[in-house]
Amino acid sequence: MIPTKGALLKRGISFNSGGGPLCPFCNNSLESSDHLFASCDISYSVWQLLYNWLNFSIVLPSKPIHHFSTHMGLISNHRLSKFWSVI
Ligand SMILES: [Zn+2]
Repeated sequence: MIPTKGALLKRGISFNSGGGPLCPFCNNSLESSDHLFASCDISYSVWQLLYNWLNFSIVLPSKPIHHFSTHMGLISNHRLSKFWSVI
């Protein structure tokens, strides 16, 4: 599990020192892994820019695990898979 602000909030951790639980990129939704990897307009644009730069045209899946498996499926060269997984 990614320790997003939404996940930390569910565990009773408050955000009294500023920032709040909203996504720091768009400030429109609760920060969650689903939001960060699929529905955040800012991060979605960054992913699209990255894939355009790498010359891939894809629609991003709505769940982070599907995003990861799709991402890993884009590369067939096993030598580059470690580098690719870091992205
Ligand atoms: Zn956002």
